[in-house]
Amino acid sequence: MGRHVDNKCKLCRREGMKLFLKGQRCFTEKCAVSRRDYPPGVHAQKRAKPTDFGVRVREKQKLKRIYGVWERQFKLYFAEAERIKGNTGENLMVLLERRLDNVVLASGFALSRNHARQLVNHGHFAVNGRFIDVASFSVRPGDVLTVRGGDAVRKQVADAVEINKSQPVPAWLEVNRDNLSARVVAQPRREDVPHPIQEQLIIELCSK
Ligand code: SF4
Repeated sequence: MGRHVDNKCKLCRREGMKLFLKGQRCFTEKCAVSRRDYPPGVHAQKRAKPTDFGVRVREKQKLKRIYGVWERQFKLYFAEAERIKGNTGENLMVLLERRLDNVVLASGFALSRNHARQLVNHGHFAVNGRFIDVASFSVRPGDVLTVRGGDAVRKQVADAVEINKSQPVPAWLEVNRDNLSARVVAQPRREDVPHPIQEQLIIELCSK
């Protein structure tokens, strides 16, 4: 799957909110959104007020950028969210939250979402002892995530854990920082998703 290679802070500035794409930097005064709270580009500040459609498109873009998914994959998530019983918007958020790269990040095992994805893609995590190198792998309650690899990988993950130790771990995960493992104790709920997304706007945009 592709990933954004351009300036990530520009994506946040374009959306007018922190998308937390650069790890610890996002929590410091160096954050570009804190310093330049306006969209990038020479004429960006002159743009007309967005239409209702534009607002909905931007909400979808925010969600895709936070989780690093492209349109094609987003459509698959949306179709799955519609298929599952219950509220489609909540289903969509929960499906994205259950991605393996998100679990690695939320457990504090990586410094940013890109770092989490790279660790997964390089095969440095196992789920229930089974090697998984697919970032979009969807975890389930009861799954146990462990680090797989030599001393260099374990040190990389341990360093991330140390740096992230003050960040809260979501209630649906149980992290053992000593042996670098995490257990999915429950299905995440909408209120466990930390991002201020108005998923209803996305549903209005994407529903046929
Ligand atoms: Fe976004 Fe983080 Fe850059 Fe701030 S530092 S603009 S939150 S990527």
